[in-house]
Amino acid sequence: MKKILIYLRSSVKLISLVVISLILIASAVIFIYKPIYSVTIDGEFVGYTENKGDLQTRINDYMKIGEGENVAFVQIDELPEYKMCLLKKDIVTNDDEIFDKVKNSGVTYYKYYAIVEKEEEKLYVSKFDEAESIINQLKEKDSNNKDDINIIEKYETSCADFTSVEDAVNKLYVKKVVAKPKITSVARVSSSTANTSSTVVPLGITLSKPVSGTISSRYGRRWGTMHKGLDIAAPYGTPVKAAAAGTVTQAGWNSGGYGYLVVISHGNGVETYYGHCSSIATTKGAKVSAGQVISYVGSTGDSTGNHLHFEIRKNGVTQNPQNYLY
Ligand SMILES: [Zn+2]
Repeated sequence: MKKILIYLRSSVKLISLVVISLILIASAVIFIYKPIYSVTIDGEFVGYTENKGDLQTRINDYMKIGEGENVAFVQIDELPEYKMCLLKKDIVTNDDEIFDKVKNSGVTYYKYYAIVEKEEEKLYVSKFDEAESIINQLKEKDSNNKDDINIIEKYETSCADFTSVEDAVNKLYVKKVVAKPKITSVARVSSSTANTSSTVVPLGITLSKPVSGTISSRYGRRWGTMHKGLDIAAPYGTPVKAAAAGTVTQAGWNSGGYGYLVVISHGNGVETYYGHCSSIATTKGAKVSAGQVISYVGSTGDSTGNHLHFEIRKNGVTQNPQNYLY
């Protein structure tokens, strides 16, 4: 019995000794060592972090928003791998360095918008509403290319140079083309083509009435032929005034039926003709001002009564004077 007691007592002593030493070892380990993560990227050791969660959150946020303007996302092929280990407390962690390594391995994708005209990228803007505003402004201005212009969303690894909305509209705007009149050979008194359509050709100058009187014959088809001017009946000797300023290119007798004729060139391809005059008050080559008296009403040439035969020609094509006057 006594022997057993002694044996027990020594066992307890031994056990407590073992326990105490284990606690001492454990506290020594905790005091000297700490759990830490060793980080590798693509199998290569890059450093240590104490806080795996924080570092990974920082990396995830960077992949989502990147740095700077217009970043769509950052693509990172190799993400870090973490392995827990116990290391001495004085080990240096390097979260910033690891983060920079991850960042540098990433490819940044930028998102912006291209304005394309017939599939060709013309310029770039940062935001969708800017692109939309450009399109809308071109439509409002009735730009000739408004139906060929579109927006394309771009994802690129480099950012483009952006154009402001105002500059973009100015650069892209194309004025509507107005159909040009057919240019014919040099106008001659005896022959000219006539505009018989209802299209009014813009002259680019303003005309005023050469005489006031009654219209006795209109421009257009008459007795199977083309009447290329407007006849204005007025008493013999009524002054005929230049319809606009210009240079007199003909002043004298015309054998083609116009009798005494004055022709004035106004520039812009516009000429005016004054026929059947009784007499002429200007000379060839003279510069005349608008309203200046150039001749007097008569009935010379192929004419049956006192009237002014008045023609307007644009690039050699006669036009209906009543589209502009009377
Ligand atoms: Zn006539």
